[in-house]
Amino acid sequence: MSNAALYDTFARLPLAFEKGEGTWLIAQDGTRYLDFAAGIAVNSLGHAHPHLVAALVGQAGKLWHTSNLYEIPGQQRLGERLVEITFADKVFFTNSGAEALEAAIKTARRYHFVNGEESRYRIVTFEGAFHGRTLATIAAGGQEKYLEGFGPKVEGFDQVPFGDLKAVKEALTEETAAILVEPIQGEGGIRVLPGETLRGLRQLCDEHGLLLILDEVQSGVGRTGRLFAHEWSGITPDIMAVAKGIGGGFPMGACLATEDAAKGMTAGVHGTTFGGNQLAMATGNAVLDILLDEGFLEGVARKGLLLKQGLAAIADTFPDIVEEIRGEGLMLGIRCKKPNALVQHALRDRKMLAAPAGENVVRLLPPLTVSDEEIQDALERVHAALEGIAAATGDGG
Ligand SMILES: *Cc1c(COP(=O)(O)O)cnc(C)c1O
Repeated sequence: MSNAALYDTFARLPLAFEKGEGTWLIAQDGTRYLDFAAGIAVNSLGHAHPHLVAALVGQAGKLWHTSNLYEIPGQQRLGERLVEITFADKVFFTNSGAEALEAAIKTARRYHFVNGEESRYRIVTFEGAFHGRTLATIAAGGQEKYLEGFGPKVEGFDQVPFGDLKAVKEALTEETAAILVEPIQGEGGIRVLPGETLRGLRQLCDEHGLLLILDEVQSGVGRTGRLFAHEWSGITPDIMAVAKGIGGGFPMGACLATEDAAKGMTAGVHGTTFGGNQLAMATGNAVLDILLDEGFLEGVARKGLLLKQGLAAIADTFPDIVEEIRGEGLMLGIRCKKPNALVQHALRDRKMLAAPAGENVVRLLPPLTVSDEEIQDALERVHAALEGIAAATGDGG
């Protein structure tokens, strides 16, 4: 079999997996890989977590999908739970991150529309951002490589340099509706927005009657050791997009909002066929069961520190290969001096999987259920990989 029948949009590795067990992926030839990519922060509870399997299989035998023409108890339950544990009063379920962002953008624009200010529709975003691949979200992300050849860019996004509060202020006009930002840029290279900057954005929004939209598609759902990354800064958004880890591998996302921010999203103005179906809700509720277990998030924070400290020690040993270790919790990046592809390849040779990112970063996003022993194992593999690069290039410690 080959990829010939598939769109050539992905630069796939010649590697296929047959089975997953926790932090491990088992290839077709039986080779075991330590999975520190976790489907790009999607497999939040690892592979084949028994509680998720039971929830999904249990639901699969009863009912998969009815559409949003009817009440969906699993949606009501997950919605109520998300409202209980976050800033939000209202939730809209989607199938993906980009759709959660689309819902967020539409929510912000409708808010001003029902306030009688329909000329307020522009949204300030940041360089290096990634918000998805739909026409609106590539415009929001503003990256030329994703926009090229797809016709006129969707109107209404004003981009400023990453974390630059002064530039945000200057970009605000009477047409500005909202500010959209990732608390930690994922694809952009694990760039952490300082808490102070996030608080500054919140303040600007309050002063100018704007809505603060957070994209926590990657940084959310426990990834940083808090339920959502913005909690570290003490502020709350008006609207938040969530996806990736919330389904533990089942495709789902959500747009969360305060009652006020969501007031324009009335019957019929938005919709989805698949979003929030029974299978997704069974899985999402099961992910939350584990995430909200006593001590689970504290464990993520502790393991994140363990991994970061180990990586920092390795960085000190190989100053010619590693520029910097950055990130929060189990959302960490190795910023490389050598090409990140070289480092990632060396890791793969040692049967460890990581994900690439911007700014020449290798992302480490293990399942939140990773054990201390697996972190130790990963650190040994990273050390060996960099040692191999140092030996081959004559650089290193
Ligand atoms: C992955 C990602 C998205 C897009 O999610 P999809 O499910 O691929 O549509 C949006 N924002 C951020 C921060 C992401 O990491």
